Amino acid sequence: DKLGIALVGLGNYSKGQLAPSLLETEHCYLSAIVTGTKEKEKEWAKKYNIPKGNIYNYENFDDIASNKDIDIVYIVLPNSMHAEFTIRAAKAGKHVICEKPMAVSVAECKAMIKACDDNNVKLSIGYRLQFDPYHKRIINLSKENTLGSINYVNADFAFTIGDPTQWRLKKDLAGGGALMDVGVYCIQACRYSFGQEPIALRAQAFNSGNEKFKEVNETITWQMEFPDGKISNSTTSYAMSVNSLFVSAQKGKAQLMPSYGYGGIKGFIKDEILEFPKFNQQQAQMDAFALNVKNNTDSIVPGEEGLKDMKVIEAIFKSLEQNGARILI
Ligand code: NAD
Repeated sequence: DKLGIALVGLGNYSKGQLAPSLLETEHCYLSAIVTGTKEKEKEWAKKYNIPKGNIYNYENFDDIASNKDIDIVYIVLPNSMHAEFTIRAAKAGKHVICEKPMAVSVAECKAMIKACDDNNVKLSIGYRLQFDPYHKRIINLSKENTLGSINYVNADFAFTIGDPTQWRLKKDLAGGGALMDVGVYCIQACRYSFGQEPIALRAQAFNSGNEKFKEVNETITWQMEFPDGKISNSTTSYAMSVNSLFVSAQKGKAQLMPSYGYGGIKGFIKDEILEFPKFNQQQAQMDAFALNVKNNTDSIVPGEEGLKDMKVIEAIFKSLEQNGARILI
């Protein structure tokens, strides 16, 4: 039997990726929607065959508690709303997938983990790349010691942002600029490339003076220290286009470029050109979590993964406040 998923927030990611992928999932399906926009109710109900009783808004959201068609709630709202809706979903007794970044502070991440524990529900973060075959090969480098000890990782992800009025440029909704958005992928990639946790970092911010970046940083670069003197370097920005992951190890190099898309990833590990058939990351991610729920097993990307990244994010902001000082994580 397929588990029912309720999508909360029917913006670009839900519409373009998650809902279509839920037509291909084996262990879960789109059973309900939560939206603040009346017009979307009809459109989605028709397209995805969702009964009237399974359509909610942000006010009556808590009523999902009594809806047997909903096993998992997937939070796809602006970043500063992730904590509130994850906690409300947990209190309603539903398992939760929350989009990245997990929230906008370490304190929120901890509260989310606690709420899910207290209510005996599972929590997973929308880190789709951990299911992608290219990234799985990178993750395996440290596990299998294929290239010997890894010395250096460079992970950059940036794009040029459009509409100046969007929530991604508003501090209260986004919690920060590109770092909270695509920068999270760099933090993740550095952590899983090394297979270790960073111990300290330094960060630098750059602003061209563009009107768009009144509330959030335009570009941030940062360097992390890993155990045994290993280092990483990263750039994230809303004002340039970069998309790459580079790993240097004792016995060779690995690279993914482009690295972080829904598809179209290219790369190599030493002499091997990586090539995998077309792959649906979101389908794999949601099916894996549905199986975790069905079998009562641990999520591959639990809330703790999001919390670890948020600790790095807070350390980056702290370093920026202190003019690039070295901050222990
Ligand atoms: P979006 O702007 O397209 O959608 C956001 C949705 O939230 C909209 O439907 C909007 O109506 C709703 N919303 C509710 N309250 C709002 C408010 N106060 N202000 C603005 N919108 C409000 O954004 P998106 O690209 O779908 O991103 C949503 C979340 O998903 C973000 O946390 C983002 O980081 C994450 N995301 C993840 C991936 C991924 O690959 N894992 C990709 C895209 C987005």
